[in-house]
Amino acid sequence: MIDSTTPTSGRCAIVTGAARGIGLATAHKLARRGWPIALFDLDEGALDAAAASIRAAGGTAQGFAVDVSDEESVAQGAAAANAALGAPLVLVNNAGVLRDDFLFKATLDDWDLIMNVHLRGAFLMSRAVQSFMVAERWGRIVNLSSTSALGNAGQSNYSAAKAGIQGLTKTLALELGKFGITANAVAPGFIATDMTRATAERQGLTFEELAERVSGMTAVRRMGDPADVAHAIAFFVAEESSFVSGQVLYVAGGPSA
Ligand code: NAP
Repeated sequence: MIDSTTPTSGRCAIVTGAARGIGLATAHKLARRGWPIALFDLDEGALDAAAASIRAAGGTAQGFAVDVSDEESVAQGAAAANAALGAPLVLVNNAGVLRDDFLFKATLDDWDLIMNVHLRGAFLMSRAVQSFMVAERWGRIVNLSSTSALGNAGQSNYSAAKAGIQGLTKTLALELGKFGITANAVAPGFIATDMTRATAERQGLTFEELAERVSGMTAVRRMGDPADVAHAIAFFVAEESSFVSGQVLYVAGGPSA
């Protein structure tokens, strides 16, 4: 369905970490809204498959092998997306990794990796695309935070990064608002993706066991689906959401704080 949010030609939406999970669901959702999609991720094969799935559904998409934590890679990716699909006027900072451990076992390497992918990545990507948005006097940045930003045992690195994402989001909203650019964050709870499958494995549980445990503690008595998060992201991207900025929306099947 093409709705009133459909951009004119020569514009695209960049979704990072788009080869699977929440990123891929978001890419499909925005493609259905008429956005040509630049998928950024690490693995070229996975990117090709993801882009093909969007094209098969009638959308426009191209994959770009980009490491969001690498300044040069980000600059090249933003330029390549602009050349291939048009000015990146939507940015979804979704790329992510987990390295969970309790503090006494947590390593500095893991701390650095988490900070680099989530926080440095969101900073580098936002800085790289803001000039396109400022030139057009229109832009949408949506960052992926998490309920873990409120604190979660075993996730000192990840919860700190996801809380940092919220501060970054509010500052982007303040700095960029006068250029017609909004910045918001979506903070999911437990969503069924490869990331949470790996969490179950780490905890010695089957995915079904972990899902049942989490569902029992969730107000709506189910875990989330990537489409639940994509829907919230699409709300922030919509033209009609231009007066909503600097917000954090928890998508967690119930109140989070
Ligand atoms: P996922 O299935 O693990 O997908 C994450 C994607 O990001 C992967 O394709 C991964 O590539 C890619 N990626 C990792 N490092 C990257 C880098 N340096 N540059 C570019 N791409 C990179 O994760 P997800 O569950 O969909 O999560 C998406 C986002 O939502 C993350 O920011 C996550 O923290 C957040 N979130 C998820 C949940 C949840 O319950 N799933 C809850 C709250 C927040 P590789 O496979 O090659 O590593």
